[in-house]
Amino acid sequence: MRVLFVSSEVAPLIKTGGLADVSAALPSALRRLGDDVRVLMPGYSQVLRALESFKVEAFFSGVDEFPNFRLFASVLPDGVPLWVIDCPELFQRDGGIYQDGKGKDWPDNALRFGLLSKVAAILGGTESPVEWKPEVVHCNDWQTGLTPAYMHFSPGSAPCVMTVHNLAFQGVFPPQMVSELALPAESFHPHGAEFYGNLSFLKAGLYYANHVTTVSPTYAEEIQTEALGFGLQGLLKNRSKSLTGILNGIDDSEWNPASDPALTQAYTAQKMAGKAANKRALQKHMGLQVDAEVPLFGLVSRFTHQKGVDIVLEIAPQLIADHAQLVLLGSGDATMQSDAMELARNFPGQVAVMIGFDEGLSHLIEAGSDIFLMPSRFEPCGLNQMYSQRYGTPPIVHATGGLVDSVVDYNEATLDKGEATGFVFDDMTPQGLLSCAQRAATTYRDKKVWSALQFNGMSKDFGWQKSAEKYHEIYASLSDSV
Ligand code: ADP
Repeated sequence: MRVLFVSSEVAPLIKTGGLADVSAALPSALRRLGDDVRVLMPGYSQVLRALESFKVEAFFSGVDEFPNFRLFASVLPDGVPLWVIDCPELFQRDGGIYQDGKGKDWPDNALRFGLLSKVAAILGGTESPVEWKPEVVHCNDWQTGLTPAYMHFSPGSAPCVMTVHNLAFQGVFPPQMVSELALPAESFHPHGAEFYGNLSFLKAGLYYANHVTTVSPTYAEEIQTEALGFGLQGLLKNRSKSLTGILNGIDDSEWNPASDPALTQAYTAQKMAGKAANKRALQKHMGLQVDAEVPLFGLVSRFTHQKGVDIVLEIAPQLIADHAQLVLLGSGDATMQSDAMELARNFPGQVAVMIGFDEGLSHLIEAGSDIFLMPSRFEPCGLNQMYSQRYGTPPIVHATGGLVDSVVDYNEATLDKGEATGFVFDDMTPQGLLSCAQRAATTYRDKKVWSALQFNGMSKDFGWQKSAEKYHEIYASLSDSV
């Protein structure tokens, strides 16, 4: 299958979250299955700087109201062909890819990601200047949501798959953007791209795509409910026959404790000795007391309400009083950041906090911690809980979305069956998390059970192969039906 994979972020070129990891790993896995996948993304300054070489594939002018732009052809580090939209006016600027340096959304985001959506639609349509024609266009999140709408109104276009990585982000803009982005007026309708009087990129994608997927089976169910549907549950319920949940995989060559260059010492499920050296290194690096026995809880996360970082901060003093250590890496909400820093000041040697984004440290935390914390209020899939299982660091997770689909709670029965890999709690309150963390800390002291949990997690297959096969089946069924 020829597949155009469209994403606003692709690791390692640019990453703000799990979408970038998926956008690197899934195309690569699909190519291993024999699909001809090409990735399309915006030419942010960071991306153009990171590209080693490229050639100009096409030049575009007079596309609706968009500035002139070029399409560069290049290649991702693992050999996947890459197309980059070179439109300096929209993409080359200092600051983040969605927000300026102060954390404010760029005021022209509708135009920026309208262009990304439009280019994908052109490449998947009948008027593409590029020779290579996709049989399916695979869109990801709101930044590509208008692609299915543009394609729906362009007869002869390839079918589209729309994947939701997080329904909380919808790309909602004022109604005048409908004409500015040259969408047909008839698309601005509750049965279309309109969301309570505004233009919703994500809703457009969910409405017009031929098939919708999301990143775990449980999340696919949850988004059809009022609690987690963010106002789109009705549409998603109507589309339930063409809505599939496929659990993300992880890049198991990058996230492999046997070969991870960020670790002090390598280790495997069979030879675990190196894990202790990583704990020592992490404690030293972060200014924690070096103590092999104390249970060390780790967290790597965006600091947001979604991720439950607030309740981690709330229970931290009690955890420390029970004799534990805590290491936190992340950034986001200003109050959470300052609360975390205050906690570190109040508990020197017991709590360490690093505000920022640090890929290497995130690997060391996965390896050096004993227990990983991921109490998300909702979680479409989540990657860190999979990384932590692979690194022999049993996770504590809230029973939601991809977390329940990827972690098996420890009890006697699951241990006997060789399935237990972590700790799952239902009650999303500080008390609920604390009881679960205490249960984990007690279990940690039972070395035999702990080794079994570590072994089970490390032996689990979190690779992309199975998931890529499921995406391939969806592509094939869509191209059969046109
Ligand atoms: P989300 O995409 O919702 O942020 P995921 O768990 O799906 O959450 O993916 C987050 C990804 O970003 C993981 O690869 C995680 O390790 C990484 N990450 C998040 N925050 C940081 C940080 N501060 N430093 C390094 N990596 C981070």
